[in-house]
Parts: sequence; C-alpha cells; structure tokens
Amino acid sequence: MKERVAIIGGGLGGLSAAIRLQRRGFRVQLFERNSRPGGKMNEFTAGGYRFDTGPSLLTMPFVIDALFRFAGARREDYLEFVPLTPLCRYFWEDGAVLNASSDVSQMAEEIAKLSREDAQNYPAFLEYARGIYELTAAIFLNSPIHEAKKLFTRENLRTLLRLRRIDPLRTVHRGVSRFFRDPRTVQLFDRFATYNGSDPFQAPATLNIIPYVEHGLGGYYIRGGMYRLVEALERLARDLGVEIHLNSPVEQIIHRDGRILGVQVNRELIETDYLVCNADVVSTHNRLIGGFPARRQKLNRLEPSLSGLVFLWGVAGKYSQLAHHNIVFSADYREEFQQIFCERRAPDDPTIYIAVTSKTDPADAPGYGENWFVLLNMPYLEEGQDWSGETERMREAIFCKLRRRGIDLRGQVETERVITPEEFYSRYGSNRGSIYGISSNRRSTAFRRPANRSRELKGLYFAGGSTHPGGGIPLVLLSGKIAAELIVEDAGRSGAGCREHRAECGKQGERLHDAALPLKQ
Ligand SMILES: Cc1cc2nc3c(=O)[nH]c(=O)nc-3n(C[C@H](O)[C@H](O)[C@H](O)COP(=O)(O)OP(=O)(O)OC[C@H]3O[C@@H](n4cnc5c(N)ncnc54)[C@H](O)[C@@H]3O)c2cc1C
Repeated sequence: MKERVAIIGGGLGGLSAAIRLQRRGFRVQLFERNSRPGGKMNEFTAGGYRFDTGPSLLTMPFVIDALFRFAGARREDYLEFVPLTPLCRYFWEDGAVLNASSDVSQMAEEIAKLSREDAQNYPAFLEYARGIYELTAAIFLNSPIHEAKKLFTRENLRTLLRLRRIDPLRTVHRGVSRFFRDPRTVQLFDRFATYNGSDPFQAPATLNIIPYVEHGLGGYYIRGGMYRLVEALERLARDLGVEIHLNSPVEQIIHRDGRILGVQVNRELIETDYLVCNADVVSTHNRLIGGFPARRQKLNRLEPSLSGLVFLWGVAGKYSQLAHHNIVFSADYREEFQQIFCERRAPDDPTIYIAVTSKTDPADAPGYGENWFVLLNMPYLEEGQDWSGETERMREAIFCKLRRRGIDLRGQVETERVITPEEFYSRYGSNRGSIYGISSNRRSTAFRRPANRSRELKGLYFAGGSTHPGGGIPLVLLSGKIAAELIVEDAGRSGAGCREHRAECGKQGERLHDAALPLKQ
C-alpha cells in the first residue's frame, strides 16, 4: 500500500511538496481552508478589472521550470514568462526618475542620471552581489541547513570557510553605501531588503544577494496574471493524482508518543504517515499542535517580517508616467523604517509600490482604465493598531504623493478592495499578518528560521515562507522541495533509482551554473 502524506495548506509551498511527493509514489491529500488554492498568491476581479492580490514579480523562474520537469511536464505548455522592460520605474521626491534594467550598461547609464560615480561602481556592486549568490545559493537555498549531516558535507565546508565573503557583519545599508554615494542610489538598492520583509538598516548585507537575483537573473511577469502559476500547479497536482480538498480547514494536528497520527478535518480524523504543514509555523504551534510550550514560546519570540497594506484600484484613466512596476520613494527612508519596525505604525511618508499588469495584459482592465495593485510596507500586527484609521490615512498619503507627480486620482478610482495586515492573518493564518514569515533583521536569521523537519514530532515537516529558506515565490517552492526530499529520505526511498530526481538535479545544477556565468555587458 502507498504511504500516505497529508498536507495542510494549498499555498505555493504546499503545492510544490504535493507534486513532488505524489510523483515519488506517495498518496497525497492536500487540505486547504479557503475555497481556492494559492494562499497569499491569489486573484480578485471586479467591474471588468483583474488583480493579483500578492506576488507581482517572479524571480528565479528556473525553480518553476525544474518543478515542472520533475513532474514530467514542460512549463512552456502551461505558462508564459514575460521578461519586463524596464524591470521597474523608480521615482524620487525631487522629480528624478530611473528605469531599472537587467542590462548592466543600460542600468549604469540610468544610474548616471543620479550620479556618474555611482554608475561607474554599479558593475562592481553587481559582481559583489553575484559573489554572495554563488556562495549561498547551493547551501542556503537548496538544502536543509538545520540538518548537520547535510550542512557539513565536504563540498559545503569549502563554502562555509569562505562565509565572510557573504558580508554577514555589515547591514544591507552599509554594504550598499560602500559602492554608492548618492542617497537616491543607496535608497534604490536598500529597498531590496524589503523583498523578504526586512529592514535595510538592521538586516545583514548578505541580503544584497537580492539585487543580483532581480538585475542579474531577471524579473518576470506571468502572462494572464501571476495567479496562472497557482492554476498550473493545481492542474499538475490533480493530473498526477493529488487529492485536493478545498474549504477544508485542518482543526488539529493529532500526535501520540512523539509521532504524527493524522489531522482533524471537519471533526474527522484523517490518518497519515507523514504530514507537511504549509500553514505558518508559528500559527500552527499556537493553534493546531497541543503540547510543546517551550517550543511555542521560542517561536513566538522570533520577529515577524513586514506586513503590507494593499489597495486594489480599478482606475479610470491611462497613466503613461507609469510602467508595469513602479516605486515612488519616501523622502526619508530611515525615518520610514523607524516608524514601521520600531514604532510599529504606518509611516507618515510611505514608499509606494504600484504594479499595473494591464500595461502588459490589456485585458486586465476596461479599454479606458488600468488595474492598480498598490502595496505599502506595514508593521506586523500589534495590540492598539487601528487599521481602518491607518487605511484612510494611507489612502490620503498616496493620493497626495501622486498628485505631486502629476497623477490626480480624485474621482478616478472606480473599484477598490483593501487588504490589511489583519486579513493576512485571518484569511491565510500568517503569524501577526507577516507576509514573508520571520524577518531577516538579525545575522543569525538563516539558522533561526524554523527547520523543515520537526524536532519534536516524527513525521512532521514544514514547507512555506515561514520556514527555511524563507519567503518569496522561488524560495517557498524550494521549501516544498526540501520537505519532500526529507520525507523521501525518511521513508527510505532516496537516491538511486529515481530517474526524475536525478534528471532534475542534473538540470538544476546546470541552471545554477548558468546563473553564475559572467553578466551581460
Ligand atoms: C502583498 C504581497 C506581495 C508579495 N510580493 C511578492 C513578489 O512580488 N514576489 C515574490 O516572490 N513573493 C512575493 N510575496 C511573497 C509570496 O507571496 C509568499 O512568500 C508566498 O506566496 C507564500 O507561500 P506559502 O506557501 O508560504 O504560504 P501561503 O501563501 O500563506 O499559503 C498557506 C496556505 O495554508 C492555508 N492554511 C493555513 N492554515 C490552514 C489550516 N488550518 N487548514 C488548511 N489550510 C490552512 C492558507 O489558507 C494558505 O492557502 C508577496 C506577498 C504578499 C502578501
């Protein structure tokens, strides 16, 4: 009889683990509490407008290609990845505008509009960021670093001895400031720390890997909307035989004598041999697992990542000033992060991120309009916050800031849907509304992030943004891969004999190598 795996949650981490485990011969049942899979990567339509509700930028697309290959399918048959030009358009208070490019010389030309000296230093910065990627990708993104046997291999030891090169002692801001002088260039590259919900003035400079991931490896959109990825993974999973149960919240994780027995869904016990939890690790320990108070306390002490406030606006009008991705910076970045991370409130002058997918997919809005996804960085949930008041205040702040850029939205917003940090908690169970798991504001975060295999309960594994290697589409998909590989190993099915596994490892190795080739000049 096939060994059984139950999965809690149909986010990207859950879907990734489900596909891999079903392919490896397990019988997989996935339970998602909402009526659609995808978790934070979701979709909303109203009044002729279509919106993605979560991720808008895809990086490291080869991680998705590898997942399809593992499942015996071709990604190209399901999804089209669209490279974006410009990658992003940046706006500053003084009127400066920069179109970011993955082409090194073009990007340097753009930076030269801010500072000639910074433009000259850009290739060296990208090389530095690429160096961090090369050193960290294999160890930190692809393997379960909490497992000593896997971490301290001969191959990894060589890398670990060079760990100082990943710049763990400086902050992101200090790392960036070594290369750039103009405060606007520094702000541009500091911002990448927020990609995993961290503060550039606290997080280690190792996170300067992120600009290389976007600028060196490229940023993409998915034709038809980011949610097409969820649909494609759901189809792939169902075609392989994964049983997906929607509207099925797991009420409790049942265990006895240190071993998982099953999950309780609709008051019924579903027995299982292995359990992958894609729900937030901290929320899971708070709400679904009985016992282990010390563990729960330890997890609750970890600092959550940033949350976000999202406005989905159907806007009547065409705004040629904007590209597909846009950032309108605050005047004082340090002050903004002080207010978010230390005072835990919405900032007075927020940095505004606007994605307009109808620029690339005109069908996403009526002919006269545009679909705006507007995201502001926000603190994680804390007692005493007033999100309806903050929403009003932030709407006004955005309108004011955009008016200064010649964009007057008064009377132009036809449809609105707001997602507050409270909804990230109530709808998806994200710990204190965080959108990327725990923050990377401390040097030790990579090792403090919850592991993919439970230490307390045999048979329990974790996949998702709140576990290793962290948040964001590619990392979360990789966490599903790591959890699946640990189960395969524990079930004694690892290594030799699995054709798909070997084929994928070979190809992915090549891909990581591709990524390390010299940059386009
Ligand atoms: C506004 C926003 C913008 C973002 N932008 C980007 C971006 O541009 N690029 C990028 O790469 N990443 C981005 N991210 C991050 C990315 O969306 C996440 O890292 C990723 O989608 C998280 O996937 P996950 O599988 O960890 O968790 P989730 O998406 O949270 O999925 C967990 C699932 O578990 C389900 N669940 C929870 N509890 C239970 C239970 N008891 N029973 C059954 N089911 C349960 C939830 O309903 C949910 O479906 C963004 C996120 C947000 C919110």
